[in-house]
Amino acid sequence: VQQIVLNSRPEGMPSLTNFSLTDASLAPIKAGEFLVKNLWMSVDPYMRGRMIDRKSYIAPFALGEVLEGGATGEIIESNHADFPVGAKVSSMNGWRSHYITDGSDHTLLPETPLCPSHFLGVLGMPGMTAWTGLNRIAELKEGETLFVSAASGAVGSVACQLGLLMGAKVVASVGSDEKAETLKAMGVEQVINYKTTDNLSAALLAAAPQGIDVYFENVGGEHLSAALDNMNDHGRIAVCGMISQYNDTIPTPGPSNLAYIIMKKLKIEGFIVFEHWAHYPEFAKQMGQWLASGQVKAEQTIYEGLEQAPNAFIGLFEGKNSGKMVVKLA
Ligand code: NDP
Repeated sequence: VQQIVLNSRPEGMPSLTNFSLTDASLAPIKAGEFLVKNLWMSVDPYMRGRMIDRKSYIAPFALGEVLEGGATGEIIESNHADFPVGAKVSSMNGWRSHYITDGSDHTLLPETPLCPSHFLGVLGMPGMTAWTGLNRIAELKEGETLFVSAASGAVGSVACQLGLLMGAKVVASVGSDEKAETLKAMGVEQVINYKTTDNLSAALLAAAPQGIDVYFENVGGEHLSAALDNMNDHGRIAVCGMISQYNDTIPTPGPSNLAYIIMKKLKIEGFIVFEHWAHYPEFAKQMGQWLASGQVKAEQTIYEGLEQAPNAFIGLFEGKNSGKMVVKLA
């Protein structure tokens, strides 16, 4: 079996030398255990934080150890009554081709015509993040204006589509014209390409002269500053991520216009999706219906082969993905 271990901690942008593909062997399965062949694995921006040796909401990855992350796989051998051969499971045991487990922290996937990869994306953690940020943090209302950054990614593309379903006017920011066209095809009227805009704040004003009621923050830095300039009184900012800063080697200065928080009486709230996981069944029921009816589209960017996982991960910071970035294992 094969696995990917963390060789060294990245300084700044991660590189391929930070990772090694290694061979491992597995013991025979014991009573109460089963063997999983991973079919899909996820790469996510939060993994960059786990590569830094520091205290956070989740423990850092250990050097020389196999990495972890969301994965979906198929049971190919079993001595466990609740996990039969042929069933599909989701786990945090990504970055490896196979593994043996007793089933703790494993979820059986429902029988569905959907590809198991969607349980890593629109029906999984990123989709749940978009739903949580809009419903439980920002409490977006019909008729309001929503601004979403990193809007064509796993979380952002769901946040845009849910915003439209909730009756909001959606303004989005992305890093390429191609991504902008994809979002427009989904019904997002105003999309800014932040890479070809020299004044993001002015571009946001032009896209939403009525002002922003809710900002779904995925990027930080200049995006946060531009949003603060354009927020309406009593606006809400759901702080989901700040990907523009994850590879910084020195602390990033804050926006110079933070005083708008007072003047505009803003509510700014950070959140971690796992604290809201008790609401997953409610989310999954709604999302399942939206996917089945075609009201939500599940876009993915697929890299093939475990050895491509480091490339896929690095690609997140280079804007290589549209929709959820996933790795298809052999
Ligand atoms: P994405 O699928 O959005 O992938 C990352 C995207 O971010 C890239 O495609 C790129 O798109 C954009 N990006 C990368 N670097 C920059 C930069 N310097 N400036 C602006 N945009 C950049 O990832 P996810 O949807 O998985 O995650 C989105 C955000 O949500 C991240 O900040 C992540 O940490 C956060 N998150 C938070 C969770 C929580 O519980 N709080 C849970 C899950 C995710 P482009 O081409 O448009 O630049």
